[in-house]
Amino acid sequence: MPYTNQRAGQYIGRFAPSPTGPLHDGSLVAAMASYLDAKAHQGAWLVRMEDVDEARTAPCAADAILNALTTLQMHWDGAVEFQSNRGYLYQDAFDKLGRLAYPCGCTRREIVDSHVGITTDGEAVYPGTCRAGLPVGKATRSYRLLVPEVGQPAELIRFEDRLQGLIQQHLAIEVGDFVLKRVDGFWTYQLAVVVDDAAQGITHVVRGTDLLDSTARQIYLQRQLHLPTPVYLHVPVITNASGEKLSKQNGAQPLDLTQALQTLIKAAWFLGLEIGYVTSIEAFWPLAVAAWENQRRVERPIQLQ
Ligand code: GLU
Repeated sequence: MPYTNQRAGQYIGRFAPSPTGPLHDGSLVAAMASYLDAKAHQGAWLVRMEDVDEARTAPCAADAILNALTTLQMHWDGAVEFQSNRGYLYQDAFDKLGRLAYPCGCTRREIVDSHVGITTDGEAVYPGTCRAGLPVGKATRSYRLLVPEVGQPAELIRFEDRLQGLIQQHLAIEVGDFVLKRVDGFWTYQLAVVVDDAAQGITHVVRGTDLLDSTARQIYLQRQLHLPTPVYLHVPVITNASGEKLSKQNGAQPLDLTQALQTLIKAAWFLGLEIGYVTSIEAFWPLAVAAWENQRRVERPIQLQ
């Protein structure tokens, strides 16, 4: 069921965890920032489970995440959506892209070996090998979205992030044609997130800076699909001693829900929020919302783009 209380001009935000494991300190920061921004704008806050990559999805992780949010008294609006149920929407969007989406037979190794460049998120830039058709003897491994050539105006994506300021990315140079669908049937994050943000009427995306690099790709896709672009705010992410984003893969521990208030205070502290002395979760949230408003100078009513 889609969230149905949409009113014209209403703020709709979301938290979109990948259920690869329980929430940890890092994912709580993203959850808290999106929650506080929604509350500060008297908006709705939706939760969407990004389980599109079923190979990475851990059994029971979605339940563990929802239980943690409930314990922390972070109440979401509407029904929780699961990307694994929404393949028909992604297929529909993919079909709309027509010839902009083309089959590619390159392996990861071949792309790395082409040495065209490295994207800022560490992937090899795709050299465009299969743009003119699959080379003889190659089988389709994925479907990619054609991005414009360097020098074409649509190739440069610029947007204003509420915290990071003006961001720009040259898609052809910094990313290359990117994957929408794998031949085994899996939809990629970039396509699914664009389709879902639009389908759920998301007006504001608040998430970690680890996704800042993906935003230009998402805006480009929105433009190709004639979908609106939400307002973006990317908050810092917690990193480990080697500077990597805290994640389950590099050993992040699940939240300690026996110390729920302390856990919340720690996340608020990471976001730079001055909460003051607080003794209960009920008292924490209004103080955190006020601190967020203060820090971000949230204006009311918000001007939607
Ligand atoms: N599912 C992504 C993650 O857990 C977040 C996606 C988003 O907020 O756009 O990192």
